Amino acid sequence: MTQAEITGTVPGARSMISMKRVNKHFGDLHVLRDIDLEIATGQVVVMLGPSGSGKSTLCRTINRLEPVDEGTIAIDGVPVPAEGRALARLRSDVGMVFQSFNLFAHKTVLDNVMLAPVKVRRIDKTKAKERALALLDRVGIREQAEKYPAQLSGGQQQRVAIARSLAMDPKVMLFDEPTSALDPEMVNEVLDVMVNLAKEGMTMIVVTHEMGFARKAADRVIFMADGSILEDTDPETFFTAPSSDRAKDFLAKIL
Ligand code: ADP
Ligand code: MG
Repeated sequence: MTQAEITGTVPGARSMISMKRVNKHFGDLHVLRDIDLEIATGQVVVMLGPSGSGKSTLCRTINRLEPVDEGTIAIDGVPVPAEGRALARLRSDVGMVFQSFNLFAHKTVLDNVMLAPVKVRRIDKTKAKERALALLDRVGIREQAEKYPAQLSGGQQQRVAIARSLAMDPKVMLFDEPTSALDPEMVNEVLDVMVNLAKEGMTMIVVTHEMGFARKAADRVIFMADGSILEDTDPETFFTAPSSDRAKDFLAKIL
């Protein structure tokens, strides 16, 4: 891949996520500084950086869970609406999976996955169930469909959370440290699902410290520090020849 292909600056390439000169403050804290980011359709981007560098905030601005002070954000060519039904519609295009699984505790695994398609998309229940079971199968958890979240391991719950996001047919999936809360032996079962999703062509941003995932699945690594993107390159270059001292320092600590 050429650098232009990696950074999505190939003329005519379709951008799934486009951020232009995005700035955001929390009070006096300048948490996102002139973020310019184009992510091509089907691209898998791993986002790295020290704690507090703005990775979660950047992800949250993409579906406007955090409004920005300046700049523009578009998903699949459509500027993210400020509010209302248009925003809700756009949000359903952007699946999000966090560290905490946030499943509905009083609903079965199957109902967790069916809920949004039935309530928000008004999909027929029989169809929604069929599709939910297929998604649970895809994340390797179909046998647990009638159980409640508390009866599942953390890794299983996170796979349900991924299936639940996929049930809305998102164009983009954002993963914010999806394996950080898991016991080590459960990390791979979740990463495997994500690797498969990447292979199937999903556009993904993944905040993770799992370097194995970055090496296996990422087309591109973005390194953030103090609200700025300091490096934006392919994984091989990032891991073997990072250009900034901040990234060298970061890698020395985690590898
Ligand atoms: P990261 O995900 O890279 O660890 P975050 O995006 O969570 O970083 O946070 C970036 C900075 O913004 C941190 O200094 C954090 O304390 C601050 N921050 C995050 N969310 C809020 C908020 N809702 N209000 C005030 N400060 C916040
Ligand atoms: Mg974070």
